[in-house]
Amino acid sequence: MLTEKAIADSPNGGDADRKAAQIEAIETVIVDLPLRRIQQFARLGAKHQSSVLIRLHTKGGVVGIGESITPCGPWWSGDSVEAIQATINHYLAPLVVGEPVLDASRIMAKLHGRVAGNAFAKAGIEMALLDAVGKIVDAPIHVLLGGRFRDRLSVAWPLATGDVNQEVDEAFRMLEAGKAGAFKLKMGALPLAQDLRRALAIAKELEGKASLRVDPNEAWDEPTTMRALAPLEAAGVEIIEQPVARWNLDAMARIHRQARSMLLIDEGVQSLHDASEVVKRAAAGLVSLKIMKTGGMRPARAMADIANAGGMHVYMGTFLETSIGTAANMQLAASIESLPYGGEVIGPLLIEEDLCEVPAVYKEHALWLPEGPGLGIRLDENQVRRFARASPQRIDRHSA
Ligand code: MN
Repeated sequence: MLTEKAIADSPNGGDADRKAAQIEAIETVIVDLPLRRIQQFARLGAKHQSSVLIRLHTKGGVVGIGESITPCGPWWSGDSVEAIQATINHYLAPLVVGEPVLDASRIMAKLHGRVAGNAFAKAGIEMALLDAVGKIVDAPIHVLLGGRFRDRLSVAWPLATGDVNQEVDEAFRMLEAGKAGAFKLKMGALPLAQDLRRALAIAKELEGKASLRVDPNEAWDEPTTMRALAPLEAAGVEIIEQPVARWNLDAMARIHRQARSMLLIDEGVQSLHDASEVVKRAAAGLVSLKIMKTGGMRPARAMADIANAGGMHVYMGTFLETSIGTAANMQLAASIESLPYGGEVIGPLLIEEDLCEVPAVYKEHALWLPEGPGLGIRLDENQVRRFARASPQRIDRHSA
């Protein structure tokens, strides 16, 4: 059986090399990880985060790692870890097993042809494919995406407990520890007047010290957003994220024209078709990239190009990934030329337990690019066993 090194040493590949690069099996397991504190979104408070861990085995013994993850439940897109795992096991993995891993794009095209939607499940598969390819050619994923513009991403921390004193304390703790230099206030869970008082109180404390952004996650309508703009902007809020429903691009365009702050679109831009529509309608100034919603790193990279071509900036969003998905985000961010507002890729700081031997590195208010081929991470098998909900499920040639 060929080793990883033998494949790397003969890049032109003979029959034996092609055989070694063939995908032998895909394993999935759901892990349930505690959060350090409750994360209060507009629609629910979360105490733990779950992830579908994906291991893609080649015949040559290379293992590609990926994860599919939701923002603490199905409220954002309808995707849940249970449905993601079932879709992978029953529909995606059987299409992937037996394919040559180096044809990652063609494999993804095959998945898109045979399974509609399910971007989150597909994103985890793509992550595992690219991790394996990177390991085989001995290159980090950002090299596969075109090369490196940066080795760090400035980080915004979510303030999402709903308690002003606690949120201010937390902001200063993160600021002083060098973990995050900007803050994103989750809004929409409280009545508007109360929520605005909370935002203004926090803005006053952070004034001149850190950038403040707000994200009501679609909780407001257009008039509510228009009313909230003036006080938030007067208090120095720099970015307003997805205030209205995802389908309401016309309202987003009107808010964007009215706002002096940067309007960030997230739920409203999931596919590349959405991105071209956002550009056509000038429905935002800033586009949130998330590997899960676009179904992978390559389409997320393409979304950045569409946004930039339309005169918009991009921003690195998060679904609170472990250090696995965080490495994927950082590999993607490394390949993007302009990220003027950084991102919010902070999963490993909010999740109390991690799945990697070396967790993601945060210092100088930034997330740093890991070293090494593929994602640049190594799984901590003990942690995986400790937090696995059940035994891993394996799809190979026999079960597929
Ligand atoms: Mn968001």
